[in-house]
Amino acid sequence: MKTRIYRPTPVNLKRLAAVLKRGDLVAVPTETVYGLAADATNQSACKKIFTAKNRPSEDPLIVHVHSLEQAHGLAQWNETAHQLADRFWPGPLTLVLPKKASVSDVITAGLDSVAIRMPSHPVFRSLLQTVKVPLAAPSANPFGYMSPTSSAHVKSGLDGKIPAILEGGQSAIGVESTILDIRNGESPVLLRPGGVTSTELRKILGDSLRLTKSVIPEGEAAIAPGMLKRHYSPKTSVTLYRSFPAELSEQEAWIHFHLRDSLQALPTNQCVLAPDNQGRTAANRLFSILRAVDSGGYPRINIQLVPETDAWADTINDRLQRAAAR
Ligand code: AMP
Ligand code: MG
Repeated sequence: MKTRIYRPTPVNLKRLAAVLKRGDLVAVPTETVYGLAADATNQSACKKIFTAKNRPSEDPLIVHVHSLEQAHGLAQWNETAHQLADRFWPGPLTLVLPKKASVSDVITAGLDSVAIRMPSHPVFRSLLQTVKVPLAAPSANPFGYMSPTSSAHVKSGLDGKIPAILEGGQSAIGVESTILDIRNGESPVLLRPGGVTSTELRKILGDSLRLTKSVIPEGEAAIAPGMLKRHYSPKTSVTLYRSFPAELSEQEAWIHFHLRDSLQALPTNQCVLAPDNQGRTAANRLFSILRAVDSGGYPRINIQLVPETDAWADTINDRLQRAAAR
């Protein structure tokens, strides 16, 4: 199969809506990361996502909608879910709600809930509007590897496995959506930290928000890998640090969170995630930098964790810990 990249012209949007309607896959730009989309009302189309990504069928998909009306058609809503959608949609928040019967078990992996998001990327919104059905879409990468934040990333991972990629530029946020289990409006559970920070969620949810936060052992400079499920992973092995040692080996790669004097030229085996010291910037650059360093031929990638005072620390450190897991 030849994989083509399509510019987001009105003609191409119509063409790609037709590709989706006939049951084929299209990689799509979103503000979080690129997704691999299928018509959510077509089971055999959704199955193709698992084959193309080599994704286990037990791992459920997120359904993307253009309108609240579509979202209401997929799930049973409650008052808290309405408030959250009102505040954060369109945007990087995924809500897990009790599913309606029409949602396929292929999407939910047999669960009685469904994950729904209304994305804000204008190109993806145009496609959703044109195709007129909700689109199931996980990240457009081979299972376990880092999520793609550009069409070139998608092509490098899925070339020959999908017919089409819709061009939408670099993903503005650069990490996946926040996933919130809101089946019970009174006790929301954060399933995955992401593009909406827990500080922002608490403004709506207060202290009712329960976190499933991974804990970093205290007092260790280098954190042993192997404590968490491996995901979002480079091929090179990753070691995490709160702060780097004084001497940095020239053979290995070193990714600083921030360097106060980052104007000084760094050796090629070192780089900085957030030149402006902002977690948001680090999130945006994380996967591109990791991909570039991963292809640099280093025996090991060393990465500095994001300081916990930063609102994006949960989101980024979650990805880093999974990348470091064996
Ligand atoms: P991805 O889009 O590749 O980041 O994958 C979507 C993720 O959403 C899955 O790996 C699950 O963790 C989560 N998810 C999707 N549907 C549900 C659901 N019904 N309940 C809980 N988590 C879900
Ligand atoms: Mg994924």
